[in-house]
Amino acid sequence: MKFSQKLLLWTTIIIALTLGVSGYYFVNYVFETSLAREIDQALDENSILRFAFETAALNVPVKYDLLQDGSVEQIASNLEISGQSTGRLIRISDEEKESLYVSDGFETDDELLHMTDENIYSYRVISVGDRYYIQTGRSVNAMGRVLYLETLRDVSQVFEERAMGFMVYRRLMILMLIFGIVIMYFIASRLTKPIRLLMRATKEMAAGDYGYRAKQVSSDELGRLTQDFNHMSEVLEETIGQLEAEVQAREDFVGAFAHELKTPLTSIIGYADMLRSRKLDEEKSLLSANYIYTEGKRLETMSLRLLDIIVTKKDGAKVQKVQAESLFEYLRSMFLPNEEMVFDFSYDQALVQADVSLIQTVLVNLLDNACKASEQGGRIEVVGREEPGGYRFTVRDYGIGIPEEELSKITQAFYMVDKSRSRSRNGAGLGLALCTEILALHGSRLEIESTPGEGTAAGFVLQAEGKEDGHEEIDS
Ligand code: ATP
Ligand code: MG
Repeated sequence: MKFSQKLLLWTTIIIALTLGVSGYYFVNYVFETSLAREIDQALDENSILRFAFETAALNVPVKYDLLQDGSVEQIASNLEISGQSTGRLIRISDEEKESLYVSDGFETDDELLHMTDENIYSYRVISVGDRYYIQTGRSVNAMGRVLYLETLRDVSQVFEERAMGFMVYRRLMILMLIFGIVIMYFIASRLTKPIRLLMRATKEMAAGDYGYRAKQVSSDELGRLTQDFNHMSEVLEETIGQLEAEVQAREDFVGAFAHELKTPLTSIIGYADMLRSRKLDEEKSLLSANYIYTEGKRLETMSLRLLDIIVTKKDGAKVQKVQAESLFEYLRSMFLPNEEMVFDFSYDQALVQADVSLIQTVLVNLLDNACKASEQGGRIEVVGREEPGGYRFTVRDYGIGIPEEELSKITQAFYMVDKSRSRSRNGAGLGLALCTEILALHGSRLEIESTPGEGTAAGFVLQAEGKEDGHEEIDS
């Protein structure tokens, strides 16, 4: 059963019970009050009749010591006539509780009469056929006799009114119930609308539409739930997007890797086959062996670089405070001045947050790329500057540069702008991918600016701890 239907059912049950019970008590209360009033009136009437009887008895001519039965009948008959308009019936009985006078229609047993005596008056409500009466009984003292006067008052009207009250209330209750159900139907469907919308959203998401959001139609707890659900969906969509991108990147990586593996292997196999299948002259043999060697070297570089990436990802970075100077000293020792390149080191003194060997790897890669991009005798500047956000390293060359549309791709594994040029310089297309990994571990990223034909500036910012005084510029 649907939640809204349950809500409707329970509300209907509660309304019906409340209306039923309160209606029953109300109609019954009115009935009880009316009946009590009728009983009071019946008792009053009996008192008045007794008084009238006793007065009439006093007026009977004194012929006998005791009131004669005939006189009793006469008085009773007069009393009955006086009360005819109200439909009241009477019965007079003697000391032995034998009837002396009975109105026509006074048909009831003697039970009440037997309960009545000189000191006790009584009453009861009885039904005769389909009519209801209040019967009262009381003793009357008249001329030395103790008689019993009973009255019968028709109160069928009160009972009919009660039955009518119940019927009217029943109809009213049915009307109110129908009205209540219609109103509750709309309220229940409005209240449960957020739930229906959420159910739809979960279905859509389960079917793969992660961008689907539930519409928020209220600001109560269900509205909050919708908000939270939508927030959860956003996070989920983002995570799934990331996972998909990661899977795609992995697929691309495997594809590129297989391709990069195939090229040197094809050369190696080709030249090795040539060497073993025919006798080559010395020059050709040397050339073939050289190809095999260089391609083998390239494979070695590639596998080492890949290993670096894997190890870096797995081990993470052990970041500590390092003198920027020590990093530059290392670079100076690695890239000694030679005829091919001019290196220009310039840096501020500072303590930077770095994993020394990993940042050395990044800088060496950037310098390596700069060298590969430069003409013979080219100038390469390596700069370290403090800035508000930390400490910036920049490696600038004046070489071939990178076209703008390639900039976003060169950090992908195995991506090389000019494959043959990079390969001829023993490039595997993995250097910048490794740099990106390492910088991510330092909470930083690679920033490359380049103009084809003019040169490239590749840099990154590390967190810097405290400034040391002095500013040193070193050229070599
Ligand atoms: P590896 O670094 O693995 O030996 P690689 O240098 O070719 O090989 P990356 O360092 O990842 O690979 O660089 C990717 C590509 O980006 C290079 O092949 C080159 O085309 C381009 N590139 C990188 N740095 C520069 C630069 N300073 N000037 C011009 N092109 C560059
Ligand atoms: Mg490189």
